[in-house]
Amino acid sequence: MRRFAAPFALAASLALGACAGTAAKAPSSVAEAPAPKGPPRLVVAVSVDQFSADTFAQFRQHYTGGFVRLTGGAVFPSGFQSHAATETCPGHSTLLTGTRPARNGIVANNWYEPDGPRGDKPIYCAEDETDPASSPRNPVVSPGHLKVPTLGELMKSADPATRNVAVSAKDRAVMMMGGHKIDQAWWWKNGAFVTLKGRASTPAVDKVNAAAAATIKSGAPALPIPAWCAAADHAVAVGNTTLGTGRFVLEPGKEPQFRVSPRMDKATVDLAIALTDEMGLGQGSAPDVLSVSLSATDYVGHATGVAGAEMCILQNQLDQDLGRLFAHLDAKGIDYVVVLSADHGGLDMPERMDQQAFPKAERVDVSLMPEALSKAVAAKTGIAVEGPLVFGDAPMGDLYVSRKIDAGQRAKAVAALVGILRAHPQAAAAFTGEELAKTPLPSGNPQDWSLKDRARASWHPGRSGDVVLLLDRAVTPIPVAMPGAYVATHGSAFDYDRRVPILFWRRGMRNFEQPQPVETVDIAPTLAAVLGLKVADGTFDGRCLDLDGGSGNTCAQ
Ligand SMILES: [Zn+2]
Repeated sequence: MRRFAAPFALAASLALGACAGTAAKAPSSVAEAPAPKGPPRLVVAVSVDQFSADTFAQFRQHYTGGFVRLTGGAVFPSGFQSHAATETCPGHSTLLTGTRPARNGIVANNWYEPDGPRGDKPIYCAEDETDPASSPRNPVVSPGHLKVPTLGELMKSADPATRNVAVSAKDRAVMMMGGHKIDQAWWWKNGAFVTLKGRASTPAVDKVNAAAAATIKSGAPALPIPAWCAAADHAVAVGNTTLGTGRFVLEPGKEPQFRVSPRMDKATVDLAIALTDEMGLGQGSAPDVLSVSLSATDYVGHATGVAGAEMCILQNQLDQDLGRLFAHLDAKGIDYVVVLSADHGGLDMPERMDQQAFPKAERVDVSLMPEALSKAVAAKTGIAVEGPLVFGDAPMGDLYVSRKIDAGQRAKAVAALVGILRAHPQAAAAFTGEELAKTPLPSGNPQDWSLKDRARASWHPGRSGDVVLLLDRAVTPIPVAMPGAYVATHGSAFDYDRRVPILFWRRGMRNFEQPQPVETVDIAPTLAAVLGLKVADGTFDGRCLDLDGGSGNTCAQ
C-alpha cells in the first residue's frame, strides 16, 4: 500500500507534467478521477508489432486517442529489444518474461535443431513439433519452447486466482506473452480467432468472430485519411506497381485484405474488451493480466512499408482503438496499469528510402540465400553431401551446416562459410556459434553494445546457428519485392529494428519522459514491483524502472 502513496498520489501532477512540456493532455475525466491506492487490479500489456521508436517519433504529434493517455504517463522513447534477432517471436518473448532470448530460448521465429528429429527441417517457435500433425506452416500451437515463466504465470504462482489472458492476430505473440499457463489464448487463423487444441470457444469470442466474418463477407469502404497524412500520401514505384497511396478498401470475401489492415487491430481490441467483460477481468480477488498484441502495424509495414499513407491511416486507427479499450476499462471502474511496447522495430522499403535522403538502401543479393551459400561452400571445400550443405530460415541470422558430414568436415565447412560471409559487401558481421558461446552475456547500455554482444543476447545452445550472419545497415533481406505483401521488414541488429518505445500509464501517475535507453526486459520487473509481486532474485535479466516521476520510488521494497 505504502508504495503507491507517493507514486500515484496526485492527479494534479498530470497538470504539472504538462507544464514541463513533455506531457500530452490527459482526458479530463481521467485527470479528475482519484488516484487509486494499492496494487492495480489489471495489467494491460500491449504490444504493437513492428512499432519502432522511429514510427512512434514520427506519429506521436498527431495522436488524439489512446496514445495521448500513454504519453501522459512514464515515457521511455528509447526502449531496446537489445538482441540481434529482431523478429516477432524473440521480441514477444522478452516483453513479459524479463529475459533475453539467450536465456528464454526463443532465438528466432524459426530455428533448426540439426541433431534432433527434424534434422534440416525448421521448427516454429510456437509449435509442438512432437505432434505429428504439426508443421511450421500449420503448427499445433504450443508455448513449450519458452524456457521461462511469464509475468502472468509468476502472478498465478503467487495467487492462483489471477487470470492470464492473451489475444493477438499471431499465435506466437499469444504464446510468448501468455506463456505456459494461459486461461484464455486467442489468435487469428483463416478468418476467425482460434485457441489451443482441445479448448472450447466462449460466447464472447463467438460474437467477435461473427462480427468479423460479417465484415469480411460484406466488404467495407476505404478508411478515412487524416489531413496530417497528406505529405505521406504519394506513390512510390515498387516492381511494376506503386505503393504509398493505399486506403484499405475491403473487397467482399477477401480475408487477407481484412487481416492486413487496421480492421485486424480493431477486431483484436474488440476481443480484448469482450473477454474482459465475460471474465470480469480486473474485478476478481487477484490482479489479472490481459496481453494484447496488435499485429496490423507489422502486416501493413511488411506489405507497404512504414512511411506511406497506409501506415499513416493505420496509426490513426490504432490510436482510436487503444482509446476505445482504455475508455471501456475506465467505464467499468477498473484500476489498471498499462504498458505498451513492441516486439521489434522496422525499416521502410528501400524504394522510398532512396527517395528520402538515405545514402544506400538496397535489397539483399541472392548470393546470401542459404541455397547459394550451400553451393559456394561446396565449391570452396569440395564437400559433397546429400541435401543442403548449409541451411537456414532467411538470408540473415542463424545458418546451420549439414550433420551428414563428420565433425572435421563440418569445421571446414563452417570456416569456409564464415570466410564467404565476412568477404560479402552486404554482411556487417558473421560469428560462429563457438565464438558466441565463449562471449560473455552483455550488460550495460544496449545502445553501446557491439554487434557480437547483440548476437550473443539472442544466442542459445542447441537452437542457434553454427554461424550467425548479421546483414549490413539498411540491407533489406527480401531479394525481390512483393508489393502489397512483402516489401519491407526487420530482423537486423541495428537500432531501427532494436529501438522501440516503452510507455507506462496508470491513473493519477505523474508524467515524465526519460530519453535514456532502457530495455524491454525491464518491463516485467517494473510491473512486478508495481504489483508488489515477490520473485526470486535472478528471475529477470532486466531491472525495475522507477515509474514515480518524483521523489518516490515504485521499485523500493
Ligand atoms: Zn513482429
